[in-house]
Amino acid sequence: MKDAAPQTIYLSDYTPPAYLVGDVHLTFKLAATKTRVLSRIAFRPNPDATDHDFFLHGDDLTLISARIDGQDINPDLHSGGLRCAVPDGPFVFEAEVEISPSTNTALEGLYMSNGMYCTQCEAEGFRKITYYPDRPDVMAVFTVRIESDLPVLLSNGNPTATGKDWAEWHDPWPKPAYLFALVAGDLVAHPNTFTTRSGRQVDLNLWVRPGGDEAKCAFGMAALKASMKWDEDVYGREYDLDLFNIVAVDDFNMGAMENKGLNIFNASAVLASPQTATDADFERIEAIIAHEYFHNWTGNRITCRDWFQLCLKEGLTVFRDQQFTGDLRSAAVKRIDDTMMLRAYQFREDNGPLAHPVRPESFVEINNFYTATVYEKGAELIGLLKLLVGDQAYFDALDLYFTRHDGDAATIEDWLQVFEDTTGRDLSQFKKWYAQAGTPRLTVRDEYADGTYRLHLRQETPPTPGQPDKDPLLIPVAVGLLDQNGAEVLPTTILEMTKAEQSFTFDGLSGRPIPSVLRNFSAPVIVVHDMTDAERALLLAHDTDPFNRWDAGRTLAQDVLVRMLRQNATPDTAFLDGLAAVLRDDALDPAFRALALRLPSEDDTAQALFDAGHTPDPTAINQAHETLKLHIAQHLQDTLPRIYAAMSVTGPYTPDAGPAGQRALGNAVLGLISKLDGGKQAAQQFASADNMTQQLGALRALLQISKGDAELAAFEAQWQHDRLVMDKWFGLQVSLAAAPDAAATAEKLTRHPAFDMKNPNRFRSVFGGLKANTAGFHHASGAAYALLADWLIKLDPINPQTAARMTMSYDTWKRYDGERQTKMRAALSKIAQTPQLSRDTEEMVTRILG
Ligand SMILES: [Zn+2]
Repeated sequence: MKDAAPQTIYLSDYTPPAYLVGDVHLTFKLAATKTRVLSRIAFRPNPDATDHDFFLHGDDLTLISARIDGQDINPDLHSGGLRCAVPDGPFVFEAEVEISPSTNTALEGLYMSNGMYCTQCEAEGFRKITYYPDRPDVMAVFTVRIESDLPVLLSNGNPTATGKDWAEWHDPWPKPAYLFALVAGDLVAHPNTFTTRSGRQVDLNLWVRPGGDEAKCAFGMAALKASMKWDEDVYGREYDLDLFNIVAVDDFNMGAMENKGLNIFNASAVLASPQTATDADFERIEAIIAHEYFHNWTGNRITCRDWFQLCLKEGLTVFRDQQFTGDLRSAAVKRIDDTMMLRAYQFREDNGPLAHPVRPESFVEINNFYTATVYEKGAELIGLLKLLVGDQAYFDALDLYFTRHDGDAATIEDWLQVFEDTTGRDLSQFKKWYAQAGTPRLTVRDEYADGTYRLHLRQETPPTPGQPDKDPLLIPVAVGLLDQNGAEVLPTTILEMTKAEQSFTFDGLSGRPIPSVLRNFSAPVIVVHDMTDAERALLLAHDTDPFNRWDAGRTLAQDVLVRMLRQNATPDTAFLDGLAAVLRDDALDPAFRALALRLPSEDDTAQALFDAGHTPDPTAINQAHETLKLHIAQHLQDTLPRIYAAMSVTGPYTPDAGPAGQRALGNAVLGLISKLDGGKQAAQQFASADNMTQQLGALRALLQISKGDAELAAFEAQWQHDRLVMDKWFGLQVSLAAAPDAAATAEKLTRHPAFDMKNPNRFRSVFGGLKANTAGFHHASGAAYALLADWLIKLDPINPQTAARMTMSYDTWKRYDGERQTKMRAALSKIAQTPQLSRDTEEMVTRILG
């Protein structure tokens, strides 16, 4: 059966499943093109169901036979599944189907990656394995038998029996089909153990293919153990099986997947050694391992009723992994990092044609809703809730959530109810955050007279597709006040904004204060506040809130860039002096200073110009950024060598926050030094580096000044055997190519023997690099627009999920001038008109075109 014509699915159409499942027995007879899957499923009618239509999902399956209670049947095969008559009471459904893992390039369901069988079932991949009610509110106990001559055969839960060429697994925890997993291959384990706080020993394994990856497992294993301990200490959650397996896979669409007891990871999200991974990679790996592990409670034990509730598990689990990283490293630096990500991806999404609520109300293809809005804005909403109710009430509510809903497929209503029951608060206005798309603008005005200061706040959420009118939201605004010398006269205070316009009064002040608004980024909003450069510089120098201190510098830099572009201004010294003061302040965390040195991205500047009513010119923006970097380098030139030397780390490499922060600042300074010394210092660092952070930092500094050809060649020669490092080599060249050469560089790399479009990491390294090169992607020739369109058309039949996701490169087309708009629309139209375009890509292109 083939896909049905694309259909829109609505949250409001939800009905309970017609049948519930008790036990599921699956037998896999693995073979590359002819895997047989035998299923035996115990069904019973759902007393809460409104209809009793027996329908099982199934995609790309060849049905060999089917039986009900032992009697052969001939079900009606429909597009997307099968239907048949069933007895009135409980019954057993059996089927045998044939599937072809080796030709499954979409990487959904059961597929092969370098000779290894693996699965990816979230969201709707299980229906490519066998006929089943593939929806998250159908939970069942799975027993799995795998038959194969491969040496390692894994599934969810605990192993129960094994013999020559077979193994059996049983998972005692009822789960939805999207958490099913199977792995078979020639694998080696990196083993360890963890003892839970109740004294149970859990065996841990990180499985990799033999031949080099064994040396990249230690960090991931340590991160897993740290995550297990943290979830016990902070949330009181223990692991609940005797075994926890992680498998690294080369070909994977996402970062990783939280299948019960058998997490499957994109190799890039788990494997690391000092020589091959950067400090940023280590931190990302630690966070992803924590994220997938934390899902065991927030996602697996309590899952989602339907896919519209995706933020219930993702928003909460992202929030938990952010807390974990903040606890292990620097909470202030983590908050800044997360906000930069949120603004770069989620704000961009929320302010363009793809804007949708954290809980969407309809979709065509759910894979298209694994978005920054669901994940990152979803996490922000958990933070908002915690701020509104306080830490103690937050953890009390979580305890109630775990007690009340363990084993449930829950909803956002269930989630908010535990907070209402714990605190007695009415959260109906807060709930609008889940339903309303778009980033609210918070406009700040103030006045001062006779010791009284008044802060006037106005909120407004712009229209988004399908939502022309918005209601006021409940916004917690964290505010502090500083006096004219930078001393804090009011510590952080939370103002709760519930109306479109509200004023707040502060008495007893001895002079006009400088407000520090939205401290620690207390809500995912855009602050519009006309401050003078001097006021921002004062916050940059003195704010006690590290986030606002950083953000004042960031806003100053953005203002400087806009003035350079709009008024041909030269960078003013208030900004440069402020930056110099932060850089020279050795009391400040080097990681924080590195973030302060980082300018807004060129894409951020384009959005800032667009928001101010101007048409951004990507070439001019690129030039302004380069000019500003040169001014900064010249202004700081006496300081740079001292800081660079002070940041050198002695002793063996560790990816801990301290030395990682020193290397981050060292690399940031090296980028500036290279503007002045023609790359001499960077070439030296490249030659002497004993870790990837410094090797790549030096290469980046060289490419940024259009040097580094010899180093690029040396890097390739050194690392050609290592897939993950080569992804960096591919990506860096495209993202840092001079704008007119970007498309040609990407095109040349697609002809490199190591380019493989079937590998999502490699495809993303080249074309994600092209998108990241803002001036190159938007070069006036339109070459990059056309090149990407041609490759997405080629990729779509192979891997629709990745192709669809990468159409987002075009989602800012409305910002640009007529010629660029025409060229981007032409590229999108060319994709749209491709015969047999996937449902995934068609939905995305249609939404982007509007
Ligand atoms: Zn997740």
